[in-house]
Amino acid sequence: MIEVNHSKIKETNRKKIIALLLKKNEITKLDISRILDISITTVSTNITELKSEGIVEDVRSLESTGGRKAIAIKLNENCRYSIGVALTPNHIKISLVNIKKKVIESMRVRHNSDGIENIINLLNENIDLLMKKYNLCSANLLGIGISLPGTVDFKEGIIKYSYLLGAKDFNLKEKFEYLDIPVYVDNEANLSAYYEFLNKRDILRNLLYVSITEGLGLGIIINGKIYRGDNNSSGELGHTKIAIDGKKCKCGARGCLEAYTSMNSLIDSYNEANSSNISDIDEFEERYNQNDKDAHDVLNDYLKTLSLGLSNLVMIFDPSSIVIGGDINNLLNDKIDMLKKEVYKDNLFTNENNCSISIASFKESYLLGAAMMPIEEFLEIK
Ligand SMILES: [Zn+2]
Repeated sequence: MIEVNHSKIKETNRKKIIALLLKKNEITKLDISRILDISITTVSTNITELKSEGIVEDVRSLESTGGRKAIAIKLNENCRYSIGVALTPNHIKISLVNIKKKVIESMRVRHNSDGIENIINLLNENIDLLMKKYNLCSANLLGIGISLPGTVDFKEGIIKYSYLLGAKDFNLKEKFEYLDIPVYVDNEANLSAYYEFLNKRDILRNLLYVSITEGLGLGIIINGKIYRGDNNSSGELGHTKIAIDGKKCKCGARGCLEAYTSMNSLIDSYNEANSSNISDIDEFEERYNQNDKDAHDVLNDYLKTLSLGLSNLVMIFDPSSIVIGGDINNLLNDKIDMLKKEVYKDNLFTNENNCSISIASFKESYLLGAAMMPIEEFLEIK
């Protein structure tokens, strides 16, 4: 038992030192000892170990104020990497990130939407290329995080159901077993929420992320953790109902919020109003920016419906932060105040000052969230 506690303390000290090195550009052992309140002997032992693993390196001798020169050390930011992957209905997106969370390389490959097996074969080929290019192996690659639209069994790495990818009960994790590294599979809204939360974790504990893409998802962070539900199916905001016998949803049911608020539904509404035939959000944005009246009217109606969904969230969760992100980001820039007013207009319990409704910092937060999973797991003190 004593042995177990001893190795746990050792592990904790090591992680604390790495976490401090990630924050500082360079630092002396003495300062590490002072800041973390760990004995200088323990710091030295750890640093020797970290050096032998290539995680830490000497910088130079700092000017000393007398006596012996102090050697500064720093973290070798390319000592460990992580790969973030996002599977979307038309693309595979891959980002290689180093331990300092810097994006080293990003790739975007179009797939043929010809079944999950083929999509994963294409993904494997591209990951193998990336691993060769950067000499990645189980020693320097902390893991792969994979984001996708749909429900997943996070523990087992199984896609439970993703109609956008045409996958059901598909074991994704096992496709990467040959790499011998940790693999994390999660829903895109969860990972976006996670990424936004990591950037704000010093100031808040709870956050909701509404992901608006081909579908409508919700990521829920409670007390700093992703809330997944007892059956891994939380956050299916898109399939909450707002109308009886309403519009048909891609899931097969009628009246789902997603049928009115996905990006496809925005485009469909515009095509109907304008007798047009645009096919993607960029074209819609273009027309909106050219002050096309139909584009403005359709977006206003769209936001009113979206506000119903957001208002329901506010009523249920009473959150202090809702982040909205995805393909809608650019369109929301000058509409966020209007949206806030709509969300709170019939709320007798709280008001708009109680909750920040903001636009996500990136369109593809889910991809970076996926890449952060292995890094955070590596750094987490348990
Ligand atoms: Zn639905």
